[in-house]
Amino acid sequence: MRITRLRLTGFKSFVDPADLHIAPGLTGVVGPNGCGKSNLLEALRWAMGESSARSLRGAGMEDVIFAGTATRPAREFAEVALHAEGLAGADEEVEVVRRIERGAGSAYRINGRDVRAKDVALLFADAATGAHSPALVSQGRIGAIIAARPAERRAMLEEAAGIAGLHVRRKDAEAR
Ligand code: ATP
Ligand code: MG
Repeated sequence: MRITRLRLTGFKSFVDPADLHIAPGLTGVVGPNGCGKSNLLEALRWAMGESSARSLRGAGMEDVIFAGTATRPAREFAEVALHAEGLAGADEEVEVVRRIERGAGSAYRINGRDVRAKDVALLFADAATGAHSPALVSQGRIGAIIAARPAERRAMLEEAAGIAGLHVRRKDAEAR
């Protein structure tokens, strides 16, 4: 799976629409402290279905909506669209959109069609990616990986390799 484009509106510090085209190869995001680098990674996780406000550094889900500054009023909604290729065997690019409105919760669309959060989770499930992919390492998490016990680290590697599901199937086969 490769993410090719990310569009944000009203998400955290990205109050104005931002449209990022991500070229093949390595992409680096650089900028001064507080400019929104981590917010970009959180936008990716959020669009892929992240349901924990705390892991998005917020107290509630609506905290991802631009909260306003001294000079700009708060927004009523946040929307993130990500484009990915190589998902679920699809040849074409897939567009996943998540939108949250104050007091109305989150809504998801895949290629313009309204879907459930579960459908988005399923879309990413077999690509060893998604909101909880070990391929996404948040700020401060490197230390946790280094300090992990061998069994925990092995589980992370298996998850990253996309073979974690094999253990479940093996146990099932042994029980027969
Ligand atoms: P560092 O280099 O320190 O890791 P960073 O580039 O990763 O910084 P972020 O953590 O992505 O920066 O961005 C933090 C900024 O986002 C802060 O200025 C914070 O006020 C702003 N921010 C976070 N949530 C919101 C929100 N809901 N509304 C407006 N601004 C927000
Ligand atoms: Mg950061």
